[in-house]
Amino acid sequence: MRVKLVAGNWKMNGSLASSQALIRAILPPVAALNRARFAVCPPYPYLAAIGQVVQGSNVALGAQDVCQFDDGAYTGAVSGAMLADSGCRYVIVGHSERRGIFGESDEAAALKYGQALKHGLTPILCVGETLAEREANATESVVARQLEAVVKRCGVTAVGQGVVAYEPVWAIGTGKTATPQQAQDVHAFVRGRIAAADRRVAEALTILYGGSVKAGNAAQLFAMADVDGGLIGGASLAADEFAAICRAAHEAKETVKA
Ligand code: PEP
Repeated sequence: MRVKLVAGNWKMNGSLASSQALIRAILPPVAALNRARFAVCPPYPYLAAIGQVVQGSNVALGAQDVCQFDDGAYTGAVSGAMLADSGCRYVIVGHSERRGIFGESDEAAALKYGQALKHGLTPILCVGETLAEREANATESVVARQLEAVVKRCGVTAVGQGVVAYEPVWAIGTGKTATPQQAQDVHAFVRGRIAAADRRVAEALTILYGGSVKAGNAAQLFAMADVDGGLIGGASLAADEFAAICRAAHEAKETVKA
């Protein structure tokens, strides 16, 4: 069985006070949902404070990025060891905003993926195409290239220790969601690529969809055979919306392995 996962990416939003209020509003409605996994990824400076609030709850703590290096003279960076120390269980790597705005390469994302695993964190590897790439029929080649960088550097077994998030760049923060079938097609492609290297890893792999998921469209997306939950940006900043998405994951059928 693949148990669904919903992770909220708070990005660079909020204050300490508003972040604490947000998590305090999320926890009660999510507490009773026991058929899926949940996480929130606050900004770095708030990890410890939010970590204290989620302690003992069914919502795990995650970070939004990790440095590709162990430690040393990397001003502004945060290591995997520091994230583990701060109570993180998950970390997002290769988000399209890191790739697009900060120029992060496939290789850097792969190194970050390896660092996360090295420190006992579950990496959530984001892959996905821009609108121009989709229109040029390059979705599969882009996603394959992004995945391949991690397989090549870390090995296929390592892919099985993490989570993949398919996030079409054109759907992130735009209000334009991929249709359930568009998401399913790419998720099946991702699973197929991994299956070519290791069928068992592919069958067990959690593949999230991200891109304008809301309470109103989560259930249809999560009903697709290869969609194992969601990475949620904007809608994770509203407790009622996020809790409703978590409920949709809880109510969705677990996917039975082939
Ligand atoms: C994201 O940035 O990971 C994301 C999915 O954002 P949104 O839900 O706002 O599209």
